[in-house]
Amino acid sequence: MKKMWEESLLQGELSRVKALELLELPTEGPEFEALLQAADTYSRNTFQGKGKIFAQIGLDWQPCSGGCQFCSLAAACGNQEGPFYRDPEETAALAGRLARSGGEDIFLMTTADYPREQFLSIIAAVRKAIPEGTRLVANTGDFDLAYARRLKEAGCTGAYHICRLREGVDTAIPLQRRMQTLEAIRDAGLELYYCVEPIGPEHTNEELVEEMLRIRDFPVGVMAVMKRVAVPGTKLAANGEIPSQKLAQICAVATLLCRPERAMGVHEPDRLCLRSGANQIYGEYGVNPRDTERNTEENRGYSLEKAQKLLEETGWSCQKGGVCND
Ligand code: SF4
Repeated sequence: MKKMWEESLLQGELSRVKALELLELPTEGPEFEALLQAADTYSRNTFQGKGKIFAQIGLDWQPCSGGCQFCSLAAACGNQEGPFYRDPEETAALAGRLARSGGEDIFLMTTADYPREQFLSIIAAVRKAIPEGTRLVANTGDFDLAYARRLKEAGCTGAYHICRLREGVDTAIPLQRRMQTLEAIRDAGLELYYCVEPIGPEHTNEELVEEMLRIRDFPVGVMAVMKRVAVPGTKLAANGEIPSQKLAQICAVATLLCRPERAMGVHEPDRLCLRSGANQIYGEYGVNPRDTERNTEENRGYSLEKAQKLLEETGWSCQKGGVCND
């Protein structure tokens, strides 16, 4: 019976109704196990058993006007002494080392208030420092088509951009603005990296499916799911975090509903999720909205080495690289 359920989930496109039904399953028992197994089978076949490690560098530490109630960098959190901007040359050198140490795609992340021209120049510096063919991804505030084209000219191949869960309610940014940026990314020919995030215990299954479906009309090569970390000092920390079993369930449904072609990611790195559709995790460096330390690699962030170990332990082969000790 379990095998039959699993096989039926792999056939054809998943409907909204079916996705909701799967998210309603109790997080134990044969149907739940069949769901996780079906997503794992999809990903191991589609990604040919290959895991992916991305490397992200956070560039600035300052009170951000984005007003996200889950973020350590939001002005209301009061956690920053900034502004602090990471040095461009040192950033480019770190990006180069990460790209040569197993980081397949390099992400540069900023707050919503990072100076635009400065970001373009740091992208150009990083582009020169990483091997040709390495994907370079902007994770920054909202922008229009003209700026999306400039990101591409400076050396970006893609952008991580999302509508956060309860955007405009738990954040100070209107949903419409986020959508316009997604359209600019698509129209500029940048690869879009999407994620359903940051998932907390209060989010309904309907809200989760809505976010998964929002992006089905966009060309998305890399999809992901992310649980909200209860960062001390943030308003939403009081709601707590979802358990690993629930994140795995969401990961499996997102995998089967969105069927990403290049990779399926999970944050935080999670062993069960890497057996439930996910094949991609991050090594994280510098400032991070899910950390209160200025250099997340000294606290919560995974190193590339640790990410590689976890992927291999869950049966994914990784692009080999030397160990990066930054
Ligand atoms: S999540 Fe991003 S936009 Fe929101 S407050 Fe944090 S840094 Fe700013």
